[in-house]
Amino acid sequence: MNKKKFDFIVYALIFILVFVAVIYAGKFYTFGKFIMGVEYKTFDIRQNIILPHKENNNNIIIIAVDDPSYEYITENFGTWPVPRDFWAKIINGLQQANPKFIAFDLLFTKRLGTLENGDLQLIKAVKDNKNVYLSMNFDNYPSLIRKPPVLPENLKINLKNGDIIKKSHLLNFSNCRNAMNELLEVTPNFGFINVTRDDDGIIRYIAPFFYYKNGYYPNLTTLIALKYLNIDPEKIYVKNNKLVLDKSHIIPLNPDGRAVVNWYGKEGTFEHISLWEVDNAINNNDIDFLKNKFENKIIYIGTTVTALADIKSTPVSFMYPGVETHATFLNNILDNNFITHFSFKADLIVSVILCFLIGFCILRFESVTYSVLCSIIIVILYLIFTVFVMDFFNVWLGIVLPMLCATVIFIAAYIAKYLLKSKDYEHTYKLAVTDGLTEMYNHRYFQEQMIMNVENVSRYGGNFSLVLIDIDFFKKFNDKHGHQSGDAVLRQVAQTIKKNIRTSDIACRYGGEEMSIILTNTAKEDAKTVAKKVWSAVRERKFELADGSWANVTISVGVACMPDNGSSPQELIEYADKCLYKAKQEGRDQVVGEID
Ligand code: GH3
Ligand code: MG
Ligand code: MG
Repeated sequence: MNKKKFDFIVYALIFILVFVAVIYAGKFYTFGKFIMGVEYKTFDIRQNIILPHKENNNNIIIIAVDDPSYEYITENFGTWPVPRDFWAKIINGLQQANPKFIAFDLLFTKRLGTLENGDLQLIKAVKDNKNVYLSMNFDNYPSLIRKPPVLPENLKINLKNGDIIKKSHLLNFSNCRNAMNELLEVTPNFGFINVTRDDDGIIRYIAPFFYYKNGYYPNLTTLIALKYLNIDPEKIYVKNNKLVLDKSHIIPLNPDGRAVVNWYGKEGTFEHISLWEVDNAINNNDIDFLKNKFENKIIYIGTTVTALADIKSTPVSFMYPGVETHATFLNNILDNNFITHFSFKADLIVSVILCFLIGFCILRFESVTYSVLCSIIIVILYLIFTVFVMDFFNVWLGIVLPMLCATVIFIAAYIAKYLLKSKDYEHTYKLAVTDGLTEMYNHRYFQEQMIMNVENVSRYGGNFSLVLIDIDFFKKFNDKHGHQSGDAVLRQVAQTIKKNIRTSDIACRYGGEEMSIILTNTAKEDAKTVAKKVWSAVRERKFELADGSWANVTISVGVACMPDNGSSPQELIEYADKCLYKAKQEGRDQVVGEID
């Protein structure tokens, strides 16, 4: 396997390993929650960045029970809640301006004892004005506290294929805080105003539908939107995680049946008119004021005063009136302007692409600065891209999972790169000091080692020996058997030498058919013993030739030792060479350790 292929497989394995590890870690409840929690924060930041590009619908207006109104009410009526004839007066007064809808984000819960005059007036006002919408709230109170009420059939909507809502533990309720029965008898205009918060207490999602006792019940705002858009509730359905109201009004749902709210601005984005002002205008019969403010408008009436506790936290504002959340949701439906939160699978695909690009940068650029810079640029571009797609395409692309994968890949790729590099270095070094034919050390390495050993012995004392080996009559051998057989013999002689020395001894190809052994910490007599061992091993074995036949060769050997025979590499080599020459002179096939 070539090096490129090997590196590729290493990187691919790391790639796969990182993904499996991250996904596996994500399956752990707390880690998954942590990822989601951080992801939510990135959503909040993105929402705030794109706020300036968004415009809210001016037809939605809020009558706010705000701080001054709250004081006005307690001043005039002594307490909150106000007697219900007050609301009857507000409803009737507002009708003079012909508003499209009057929706109460307030609960008119059941009365105690006999009907009071105020209740009767409210019931009449609701009965007379079909554009009035009221709310109720689901909960999961035990039936010991409150018997779960049976709601009138006409409040249900036959939502086709609504399993996603039925199965959602967030949207499936066992009890309901009922409205006054008499109100339920005069109008079917009841919606539900439950909100769901994320773990950090912030509202990012709204449920268009709830499930209670075998039926689907609409959010107050869903109901108003259906009426406003003139959509037949019988025709709406859920398909592929989308709530389809009609062709041009489709609400993308999360797997838990909720929709991501697209915020238009901080609190006060929708026009707020104080309740006391409205009451004042009605009392003074100021029709111009009423018409000017409310003609053809969708009016939400709700509390914004902190004392009445209907204050939520949202991505765009810490103190956001619940009623404005409804206004925002309605605005989203009317403008078909919901955020689609892309699935985990999409996040995974994005992560793979991102990691691929970053991995590519790290492999492509030798310079650390370049590859780090390039990776940072990729990450920043991706972050900008996620803001861009949320702004222009209402798509919430995951940030945390891709960033996490990218970081892990970045670190892993660097570790791999350096490990592979050091392996490469070893390989290159080995090539640089090895002789290709015999796989012994080469002449350069031999010279280096000679210098090192000489220096060591000069500094610390002790000794070392050098053995020079030359094959006898090798020219003739080549002539007789051919060069290839000569090569084969060289290789086999090298093997024989290596086999008969210690691993700490250094066997080199000195040049041609000459070889050398450096014996560290070895005195002359021991070196001669080693030389003899090698010499007899060579002469006793047979060498296989290129054509498969066998032949014998002999060697002549010279031995020199430091400090006995010299104190520099040149002197030692010269002495060993003279011994070798003597061996040749005296008939070859022998070891010589001394010259006269
Ligand atoms: P002697 O040492 O016994 O005096 O005789 P010799 O024939 O071995 O002497 P010489 O040093 O003159 O010749 C060395 C020969 O070794 C020359 C060359 O043909 C052969 N030789 C050197 N390097 C190689 C090699 O890498 N492969 C092969 N096949 N032969 C080589
Ligand atoms: Mg020679
Ligand atoms: Mg020779």
